[in-house]
Amino acid sequence: MARVTTQFTGIIMYRQDYRERDLLIKMLTDKIGTAMFFVKNAKKRGFRMTADILPFTHGTYIGSLDENGLSFINTASDTSQYKNIASDISKNAYVTYILALVDSAFKDGRSIGGWFNQVAAALDLIEKGLDEQIITNIIETQLLVAFGVAPIWDRCVICGRNDLALDFSEQYGGMLCQNHWSLDKHCLHLDRKTVYYLQQFATINLQKLNSIRINPATKRRLQQVLDTLYDNQVGLNLKSKRFIRQMNKWEQNIGKLSMND
Ligand SMILES: [Zn+2]
Repeated sequence: MARVTTQFTGIIMYRQDYRERDLLIKMLTDKIGTAMFFVKNAKKRGFRMTADILPFTHGTYIGSLDENGLSFINTASDTSQYKNIASDISKNAYVTYILALVDSAFKDGRSIGGWFNQVAAALDLIEKGLDEQIITNIIETQLLVAFGVAPIWDRCVICGRNDLALDFSEQYGGMLCQNHWSLDKHCLHLDRKTVYYLQQFATINLQKLNSIRINPATKRRLQQVLDTLYDNQVGLNLKSKRFIRQMNKWEQNIGKLSMND
């Protein structure tokens, strides 16, 4: 595709200073996936698109998209910022991490199919107040495939049975049924609930999700499984993920403090 002026839907992922007055803006677009935009004079006072390019803003943009180089924005319409995500430290942290994951998973300038709508739905749901950790876990589960890790969640990888208790084996890249647990002594020892949610997470369409509630103990286990897979199989070391881990530690410490009161 040569550079042509076109209308697209976009989400502002992050911004980066460029020279004195300009900005580089990473956007997730419905047309060419992630792309870097050069926005001239963006830091100048009175710049007419200031509100359209704030972090966590989504809307319709017209500009020229370049699959291999910098893209440009000419005008924007119907833009709005996810206000709760921008102002709440936890929502902000999880969404920053989701966007960093998407940025790592896909090459710039390539269409990402249904992923644009899935990410937009994730942000809509977090903005509305659904549990940001759970929504992030769903994205993490589904993005594993894009990272080249495609666990078999729904049946035993050896015999295909799904009517017996299942446990996850990193070595076999999926579930093992009770009859085959002996093959891997290092299975993750997942309980039925955790297995059930992982299976749901792998296929759920966020555009159809209205509410979800999972108890804190199961949430912790789900996060442990996904952290194990991301640490060992994907091997990312994202700053935004380290921040979430730090944030959760503070919360635990505050919890301990208030229990000691
Ligand atoms: Zn089996």
